[in-house]
Amino acid sequence: MAEKKQPIQKLLIANRGEIAVRVIRACRELGIVPVAVYSEVDRFSRHVLEAAEAVALGGAAPAESYLNIERIVEAARRTGCQAIHPGYGFLAENPDFARACREAGLLFIGPPPESMALVGDKLKARHTVQQAGVPLVPGREVQDADPARLQEIAEEIGFPVLIKAAAGGGGKGMRVVRQAGELASAVAAARREARAAFGNDTVYLEKYIEKPRHVEIQVLADAHGNVVHLFERECSVQRRHQKIVEESPSPALDPQLRQQMGETACRVMQSVGYINAGTVEFLLDEQKNFYFLEVNARIQVEHPVTEMVTGVDLVHQQIAIAQGASLPFRQEQVRQYGHAIECRIYAEDPANNFFPSVGKLLLVREPSGPGIRCDSGIYSGWEVTHHYDPILSKLITWDVDRQGALARMKSALANYVLLGIENPVSFLQALIEHPAFQAGNLHTHFLEEHFSDWQPPVPEEQLPLGMLAAALQERQMRRQVKTGEPAVPTPWQALGRWEMLHRDERSGEN
Ligand code: ADP
Repeated sequence: MAEKKQPIQKLLIANRGEIAVRVIRACRELGIVPVAVYSEVDRFSRHVLEAAEAVALGGAAPAESYLNIERIVEAARRTGCQAIHPGYGFLAENPDFARACREAGLLFIGPPPESMALVGDKLKARHTVQQAGVPLVPGREVQDADPARLQEIAEEIGFPVLIKAAAGGGGKGMRVVRQAGELASAVAAARREARAAFGNDTVYLEKYIEKPRHVEIQVLADAHGNVVHLFERECSVQRRHQKIVEESPSPALDPQLRQQMGETACRVMQSVGYINAGTVEFLLDEQKNFYFLEVNARIQVEHPVTEMVTGVDLVHQQIAIAQGASLPFRQEQVRQYGHAIECRIYAEDPANNFFPSVGKLLLVREPSGPGIRCDSGIYSGWEVTHHYDPILSKLITWDVDRQGALARMKSALANYVLLGIENPVSFLQALIEHPAFQAGNLHTHFLEEHFSDWQPPVPEEQLPLGMLAAALQERQMRRQVKTGEPAVPTPWQALGRWEMLHRDERSGEN
């Protein structure tokens, strides 16, 4: 039996951006005092402004700030926190960090370091879940670099094959090989890339599945042996193996397949001794066979779609589970109701190969309304730098069915004002309206197939207005810099962009 822990009064969020803001919100709802940490370039970031306290960690480089275990643990101790939430990315899946928290007497809001380490090694995870009877993409570890041996393994699996790093993440170190002749050099290159990115050059070969869907299952497991799944998220729309749009339910699943995948995901988590919120990722091929891909041992970027269709607050549950609480529901009590879709708003240019875009956000106005949720880490006047992951916010819509959720997303995107940097808002509008997307005909190469040469439409009558709005905002920023006031949204911005122009024209103010 897990011991019952003291209630958390103060919690440090070892992250930044929209996920830090999301966890701060959960803390406030639970009566917990949220403490932020920040790097020198994040001093005026939204998570810092919204937290009750904030501790400076150091330089912009992640090693000096958000990846610095010692400084983060020390910040938690100094501010009297009892717990640390790692968010996603940075240290979230680092077992050394989870152990360091434990050793410092801090509750780590996540899985035990042992199961985190197990699932963090994709080869070990594959081996463990295979023992539990979970279907895997056919694959083999690559022990030596002998080209003849490599070819033998690849032929056994069948071309095309995918080279993957055992310690991989974020789509790094993956390479598709279609012919035997390319194999040896591709394995050598993947090893180099894996060593540089993860400090571990173990790679393996997997059967490359053409046009799969990415379907993952959200799981919650408590310390008392209860494991439930909260259904699926379809995350097939990706660029560079990274998700952009996610939804629940998946248009590809029927009730029987949903139940089968859900039960399999629970079995995966039981086999690796998982506790807390985690996700089991699967690939679904064109014949609707599913294969285990990996476990993500943290809260996922796309967790809101699950929250919208189940009504379960996953961050609340993470905190409760870490404190020793039992799950408040059984599997048969979890319902998937309606349809939710999430669009990720990245600081990048979809018309230029999703190249990152940096600079000052001249004007931000985010949509709201029934069935609309915006998890955001930004505000007007904030500066996007190149130092971190380019995610700015996530727009999520819900309705009783997919058509309704898509219609809401279309309208919410049209009301998303983001001026100053390149961003995917108009790209996402085109994507949502695409007939293949509307029909739910998704696969992981959807963007390559339908959007490889996409260019933004330029509605000419809107251009001068947009530029004028940007210019006015820029003038206001300059004034704020001169007077030293923080660049927070003004009531003018809240009125809306065209309204703001009209008022400005009449009164001469801004
Ligand atoms: P990472 O941990 O680096 O994100 P994953 O194993 O989660 O890597 O895979 C990320 C994405 O790469 C998947 O969503 C899918 O698009 C693609 N992918 C991974 N394995 C395969 C495979 N065997 N066949 C086809 N696509 C794959």
